[in-house]
Amino acid sequence: MKLRFYPYTLELKHTFTVAVSSRTTTPDMMVEVEKDGIIGYGEASMPPYLGESQETARTFLSKVDLSKYPDPFLIDDILADIDRIAPGNPAAKASVDIALHDWIGKKFGQPWYRIWGLDPSKTPVTSFTIGIDTKEVVRQKTREADIYKVLKVKLGRENDKEMIETIREVTDTPIRVDVNQGWKDRSQALSMIEWCATKGIEFVEQPMPKEQVEDIAWLRERSPLPIIGDESVQRLPDVRKAYGVYDGINVKLMKSTGMREAHKMISVAKSLGMKVMLGCMTETSCAISAAAQLSPLVDWADLDGAVLIKNDIFDGATIVDGKVTLVDRPGIGVLKVG
Ligand code: MG
Repeated sequence: MKLRFYPYTLELKHTFTVAVSSRTTTPDMMVEVEKDGIIGYGEASMPPYLGESQETARTFLSKVDLSKYPDPFLIDDILADIDRIAPGNPAAKASVDIALHDWIGKKFGQPWYRIWGLDPSKTPVTSFTIGIDTKEVVRQKTREADIYKVLKVKLGRENDKEMIETIREVTDTPIRVDVNQGWKDRSQALSMIEWCATKGIEFVEQPMPKEQVEDIAWLRERSPLPIIGDESVQRLPDVRKAYGVYDGINVKLMKSTGMREAHKMISVAKSLGMKVMLGCMTETSCAISAAAQLSPLVDWADLDGAVLIKNDIFDGATIVDGKVTLVDRPGIGVLKVG
């Protein structure tokens, strides 16, 4: 079994601004696992504020030795071994997980949604993200997003109400709000959420810093809208910690170390009666298609990552009329086109 990887830089269509940062590119690492003439594709997307880089991914992946395993079907053991190489590195770990899943599905000749027994017609609609920007740009982006049935708006700076009001000048489409830990005071956060509830907002993601657990639990008890944890919930053990603090969790492959742990996180969250959202970073259609395999399981999706870049090198799951749409191809369902 061979592992290959090479760096790739994703070019964004628009400068992307959230509460903590602003950027025009995303560093990425492409991964391939080859065995028996079958290539499995994977990817690590690494927005700089999360701490991984092409350098850290290269260092990590160079320590992954797949030659000692007979084939990818020992995926549980392989991923446990990879997890022990070093702590952290969730995106680098995810890239190998995705490539192994792709290989296994291709060997079976089946897409993962079928292997998991999921109905491809039950995929959710996806939100389309509008970053923090000037009124003019927000209006323009909102008009461009008219195929989407729901918008996701980044808040957490000084112009929160202006952002929502500007979008409401253009459309009545439901909005989900992501504060990216931007609100620091719980009383102010509550009054913002109460205001949001009058503006057609569906839920609020990570309203306050993840360390302020008691404040977030206080907020959740009083909030008229569901509160979803994102930065607070990285991997499987975090799901239990989120119970009672959040109404739901945002699962992303680049946080969870890939499809296998994401699937477990979704099962645990649902068993606790929590809502599940499936999110992404800016990614090519490789990681998006991998996440899309899980999407019939979740309540909400935010899988617009490949739409936000201009140099996608994969063809896979797409968004049709605002809905995540799976393709009938084995593995994670991608073709390499670049
Ligand atoms: Mg978020």
